[in-house]
Amino acid sequence: MSQQPETGVRNIAIFDTSLRDGEQAPGFSMNTAQKLKLAHALTKLKVDVMEVGFAAASPGDAEAIHTIASEIGYLHDAPMLCSLSRATEGDIDAAERALGPARRSRLHLFFGTSDLHLAAKHKMEKPEALKTIERALKMARGRFTEIEFSAEDALRTEPAFLKEVLECAAAAGADVLNVPDTVGYTSPEEIYALFADLTANVARPDHVIFSTHNHDDLGMAVANSLAAVRGGAGQVECTINGIGERAGNCALEEVVMALNTRPDHYAATTGVETREIFAVSRLLGETTGNAPPRNKAIVGRNAFAHEAGIHQHGVLADRRTYEIMKPEDIGLPSNALVLGKHSGKHALRARLEALGHELGANRFEQLYADFKRLADTKREVTDNDLCDLVAEDGRGHAWELVRVEMRTGTKAQERPTAKVTLDHRARGRITTIGHGTGPFEALTDAFCVAAEVKEGMLESVDAHQLSREMEIGVGLTVDGVAIAGRSQHTDVVIAAAEALLAAFNNHARMADSSRLADAA
Ligand code: MN
Repeated sequence: MSQQPETGVRNIAIFDTSLRDGEQAPGFSMNTAQKLKLAHALTKLKVDVMEVGFAAASPGDAEAIHTIASEIGYLHDAPMLCSLSRATEGDIDAAERALGPARRSRLHLFFGTSDLHLAAKHKMEKPEALKTIERALKMARGRFTEIEFSAEDALRTEPAFLKEVLECAAAAGADVLNVPDTVGYTSPEEIYALFADLTANVARPDHVIFSTHNHDDLGMAVANSLAAVRGGAGQVECTINGIGERAGNCALEEVVMALNTRPDHYAATTGVETREIFAVSRLLGETTGNAPPRNKAIVGRNAFAHEAGIHQHGVLADRRTYEIMKPEDIGLPSNALVLGKHSGKHALRARLEALGHELGANRFEQLYADFKRLADTKREVTDNDLCDLVAEDGRGHAWELVRVEMRTGTKAQERPTAKVTLDHRARGRITTIGHGTGPFEALTDAFCVAAEVKEGMLESVDAHQLSREMEIGVGLTVDGVAIAGRSQHTDVVIAAAEALLAAFNNHARMADSSRLADAA
């Protein structure tokens, strides 16, 4: 839950750019319907500003912005909606048209100000760059609720010129001055000093605030953002799960929970409804087919898991021994028993709604059938299991497992042999036989034959005994691509086959999305 601002505690605006900087990264592109769904979730998360695209970039981007502005932008509690724009008349016009239906709109106008950007991109000298920025901002003035100006590649811009640019932008009508580390180049010490200097010395109207936008190329996007906040930044630009160009952006959930957990250190807070964090993170993972890594801070599956005995003992005695945050603060579903095989449709629907999944009648019936099947093999169906079911159901698998048989023996001629029957979305039912030095290799071989893989190699298998089930994780390379899957079952052979199935379904999904990206 967000903390109430106390005296002396600054409120930091959260500018989410999952749908612009995040969405433009390979593997994360979304269509209008998907963006709209995320935009609803980000609205519940109560971000202050939501950058939803780059109107002039493509007709698809403009359409997505316009749809979100029409469906969400009129609501009273909607975040400020924002479009990126270059310093040109055409871009500003496109942003104005796309954002038209929104009650509150922001233009995010950027211009590269480092020597490198001036010479290579703009082919301009400094005085001409200043004139271009001034002209564009004056052109945009009065057509949006607010204007943000970004000095692109600010951290590699000559400091004296950066100051000149920012003063020029503030005088020409910018309400927010963004100082982005576009290439993920800075360090916490450096960016702290820069923001302390800029906020103290850049002449500007009183209401104008500074914003920070960091990339994770050196793994410091969150640390740099927090240092900028300490240096005086009033807005942080970030994305769910830290998605974004190259190594990604500052992760929203990390920066928000750092401010939340350490008010003593940062004396700053945000308006984010932190109990929505897990749901939005999960939705983004489901939508793009890219879940955050298991050990990802705040939202990874292991972030609140206590496996080691000594930790479990401590947590049972007093959770604060090993927990600096409460799982419920980010809306993490509890792992307590929630439903079993005797639970009815009403209980399932109520639980799904509490977890943020509202399903149509057909999808619900399908999910109920899957739930019953799972409840037959698992005594306890947890919230996490339900989220997994919804995620799987929404994707439409390439492969389904029909049957698996395994033969092994101690005699030399009894080589482990696996017979696998699979249904493929397009190719229909396929039965194959695989061999190997052990059962996992034999299973892998059978899957590779079915998927017509030229070169497949089982790289790793990990197995954990849970209460009644085995959890099997597999990692393999197929034709040079690393893929992985994980599953749980009371029967170790079926667990392994389902883990391979998950890996091959992930692989098919990756192939689907790269085909889509090529077509776009
Ligand atoms: Mn960026």
